[in-house]
Amino acid sequence: ANAADFGGSSGNVSSTTVTPAVRAIGVHKAYGSLHVLKGVDMTIMPGSVTVILGPSGSGKSTFLRLINQLETLTGGSIEVEGELIGYRRTGRVDAQGRAILQTLDDKAIAAQRAKLGMVFQRFNLFPHMTALENVMEAPVHVKHMSRADARALAITELERVGLGERIDHYPSELSGGQQQRVAIARALAMKPEIMLFDEPTSALDPELVGEVLNVMRSLAREGMTMVVVTHEIGFAREVADQVVFMDGGVVVEAGGPEIISQPSEPRFKDFLQHVL
Ligand code: ADP
Ligand code: MG
Repeated sequence: ANAADFGGSSGNVSSTTVTPAVRAIGVHKAYGSLHVLKGVDMTIMPGSVTVILGPSGSGKSTFLRLINQLETLTGGSIEVEGELIGYRRTGRVDAQGRAILQTLDDKAIAAQRAKLGMVFQRFNLFPHMTALENVMEAPVHVKHMSRADARALAITELERVGLGERIDHYPSELSGGQQQRVAIARALAMKPEIMLFDEPTSALDPELVGEVLNVMRSLAREGMTMVVVTHEIGFAREVADQVVFMDGGVVVEAGGPEIISQPSEPRFKDFLQHVL
């Protein structure tokens, strides 16, 4: 995973243009009168790891939820793999010269959402299903895969997160770290292009954080495109290609992982002093 490899030093510029995995331009989100995101720009290259840092309430979760269309934008645009999410360009413009967009139907939105896997702070596994059944659920019911194929796939994904020995355990029989790894396997079983992680280790006891971060590290090494909201600064420093610091609904500072050691913005410096 290395965003800096794109754009290439050899060959001409046009032949090395890579479509971003996610491109957010001037993203705004308001809940009623509460203006949560105030013009967020972000570009996430395929195969890269972006870590989003920021204090509670800065709009990090909202931003991930917008990418995954769990919320709708109130301004700006987001493209996933070059495709505008939620809307279709009509090619026509209004009297002010703005592009006229048409809302996508549910089926088109579902197809866009299928490109994304999401892991939350709370793992939300089905308590009455084993690890294996949890991972099989969406491949069987959403993708209409045969149970035999889904079972084989689920075993592969559970082995990938180091839980090959725990496939028949119920969530209540697993540690928090193991449950979160099942949640990661469940997302991976849908074969997403991009994985969104929203504070995946925040609900875990400290001794269980490492096993989840290790799974995420190996995913990054495999070249998975990842957007990770976390307070794990060590993980950011080590794994991130891009670090983004958000505060008050805007991106205050963004750059390579070196900005963690050398922050320019006072607000980012202040934040790092509190979390380190
Ligand atoms: P972060 O993840 O950085 O802590 P959030 O994106 O969760 O921040 O929240 C940003 C702000 O938006 C907070 O003030 C929060 O209370 C508010 N907010 C989030 N979701 C909703 C919602 N569904 N309705 C109203 N306000 C919300
Ligand atoms: Mg959050």
